[in-house]
Amino acid sequence: MKKLLGLVPTAIVLLHIKAFPQAPTGNNLTAAEVLQRIKNHLTVEWQAETVDTFKGGNPAMDVQGIATTFLATLEVLKMAHSQGLNMVITHEPTYYNHFDDKEALKGDSVLKAKQRFIEEHGMIVFRFHDHIHQTAPDGIYKGVVRQLGWQAYEETQRPYTYSLPPTNLEALARGLQNTFPSAAIRVVGDREMDLSKVGLVLGAAGSARQIASLQREDVDVLIIGETHEWETVEYVRDAMATGRKKALVLLGHAISEEGGMVYCADWLKGFITEVPVRFIAAGDPFWEP
Ligand SMILES: [Zn+2]
Repeated sequence: MKKLLGLVPTAIVLLHIKAFPQAPTGNNLTAAEVLQRIKNHLTVEWQAETVDTFKGGNPAMDVQGIATTFLATLEVLKMAHSQGLNMVITHEPTYYNHFDDKEALKGDSVLKAKQRFIEEHGMIVFRFHDHIHQTAPDGIYKGVVRQLGWQAYEETQRPYTYSLPPTNLEALARGLQNTFPSAAIRVVGDREMDLSKVGLVLGAAGSARQIASLQREDVDVLIIGETHEWETVEYVRDAMATGRKKALVLLGHAISEEGGMVYCADWLKGFITEVPVRFIAAGDPFWEP
């Protein structure tokens, strides 16, 4: 192809350089090919309606490296770029709402800065949310349970419940803080409460699913990412007031799902070998005074 280069009009060469600011590696791995391989390795059909779409860049672009992350924050995008990873696979939205609808924030300077960074640095951003949850096993739970070391305690999948060695709420919470040192964990319930049965509803699954898990006789404590505080949290408070032995742990959304995107990188490495694949932590946005 090199020999032909002299024949290509200058404008096309310039366009090519603008679209691919990083030196091409010559592996010819496009984002479309990455997506096709992901589809080939899922246990479910690709859904017609899904939020798992390109949020930046396009399928025809060459992939020099892949970063998986909980959320493509501007910081994560910059880290990925500095490591030569021009495709970022993000679990949660890029533009601050579930459908990445940019209309609501049209003209917003923060949104524009992020868009500009993606465009100027030839980044590809792809969301991988619905299908990593729908495939079996659910990749997010798989990664987080591995991080917790609870594989041997699993009682059921979907809904996810675990039978831990007997402990109490205070000890469980301290154990979680050790597993997730940077997390701003919050707990509702009696510190002394004895427990062994744990429900896991990661991310922001909504109060209906969270309360359904808490209603189960085989769930003493529910661990979640985030919730509307006036729904699930208050259900637990009233459950305690009626004498029921229930508790709730809020890990924070990012912390509760990040391990799943660590697993996602390992999973991708099984069928993408031409380019580096690496997890980049978005981390917990919260701090405690
Ligand atoms: Zn999720």
